[in-house]
Amino acid sequence: MTKGRIEICSPATGEPIGTVPISSAADVVSAVEKARNAQVEWGQRPLDERCAILRQVKNGIIDRTDDICDLLSKEQGKPKIEAMVHEVANLVDLIHYYTNEAPRILAPEPIPLHLLKHRASYLHWAPRGVIGIIGPWNFPFMICNGPAVVGLLAGNAVVIKPSEFPPLIQDLSKEIFVQAGVPEAMYQVVHGYGETGSALIDNVDMVEFTGSVATGRKVAAQCGQRLIPCVTELGGKAAALVLPDANIERTARALAWGGFANCGQVCASVERVLVHRSVLPTLLDKLVPKVVALKPGNTQEDESIQIGPLNNRRQRDIVQARVDDALAKGAKALVGGKPIEGPGNFYEPTLLVDVTPDMDIMNMETFGPVLPIMAMDDEESMIAEANRSHLGLLGYVFSKDTEKARSIAEQVEAGTVM
Ligand code: NDP
Repeated sequence: MTKGRIEICSPATGEPIGTVPISSAADVVSAVEKARNAQVEWGQRPLDERCAILRQVKNGIIDRTDDICDLLSKEQGKPKIEAMVHEVANLVDLIHYYTNEAPRILAPEPIPLHLLKHRASYLHWAPRGVIGIIGPWNFPFMICNGPAVVGLLAGNAVVIKPSEFPPLIQDLSKEIFVQAGVPEAMYQVVHGYGETGSALIDNVDMVEFTGSVATGRKVAAQCGQRLIPCVTELGGKAAALVLPDANIERTARALAWGGFANCGQVCASVERVLVHRSVLPTLLDKLVPKVVALKPGNTQEDESIQIGPLNNRRQRDIVQARVDDALAKGAKALVGGKPIEGPGNFYEPTLLVDVTPDMDIMNMETFGPVLPIMAMDDEESMIAEANRSHLGLLGYVFSKDTEKARSIAEQVEAGTVM
């Protein structure tokens, strides 16, 4: 432990790979002040100029793709190919979209007035000032930089507090943004734990938070005290409903990807499979070999590895507690079911059957490489079970009958159903 610094350890080997300084409350105040002063000039620049600079950021990211993917593999643990597809390509696409669309999105909008026809009203978009961005550890590059791009384009300054676990990527991000022409003061990074995040909320004009429900509740309450707006992107417990007429091979592939990409550390991960009893045996025939084939390993050493370690020991302990609870209550592990001995935070890709609604694994977010599968008798009970969760972020329906799938999707209470 280095005093006043966070030591970052490789999730694959446990070895130290770097440190970052912990920003005190006073450091946060001065970062925000610096950003606030710089924002005045930035906010007055023509939008075209801000778009041009952000396009240079996009080019800078493309040029540094190898460095970004390598660092994400090293400190987050994911395979480089996933870093490229899920983080780099997503962010590049986001910048491409918003730099093209910002003039339309930020144009003043006429407001139709029903009664007062003699008046003309317009909605004008003005920068808020300094946006505080607080991010999680699962997609550290994409999730902190997406809101940063949008905030900067709209004329704001940003101060980012990345997760304590993979924070190095944020320093590399800053380098890329600044080299591309974003004034250094406009893109600040403060490192630290929850206290640093809390100090940030005390000083900025708006907060973009992505993380757990428990922390999101604290963040929203603190923003509420200050009467500043906040966006909270929180956890999920997505259910996949597999109907009897689903294409089972395709469903099995989708579940193997949806449950195990990024080692299951995705807010949109398939966290519960609710399958019609009549197709359970066929689904397992197809799915089990795909999960058995996922060999966990150090993504820094072997680029063919499809599944890395969990990012941190705390998360592996959570995964272990969920699976142990399920096994103690009668679930059966068809594949995996325990942590992998040795260095790093590896956990066996796990397939559970005979799960029941009283198990933690069916109620609380797992955020790890585990697919619990529950056999269901009809569509009504599948929908009811899917809707029992309060974490209605996403859901999935598998069926060849598009109309029926659409109708079921409309009954699943989640932000997005695919
Ligand atoms: P946490 O809620 O634990 O942490 C998120 C961030 O908040 C971290 O930077 C953390 O710092 C910081 N923080 C902690 N306490 C406070 C506080 N009191 N005030 C301000 N900031 C604070 O989430 P995780 O990092 O564990 O991320 C995993 C979670 O994120 C999962 O629930 C996942 O579903 C969710 N998520 C949601 C997404 C979505 O789009 N809906 C996308 C990705 C993830 P520190 O790291 O130092 O604790």
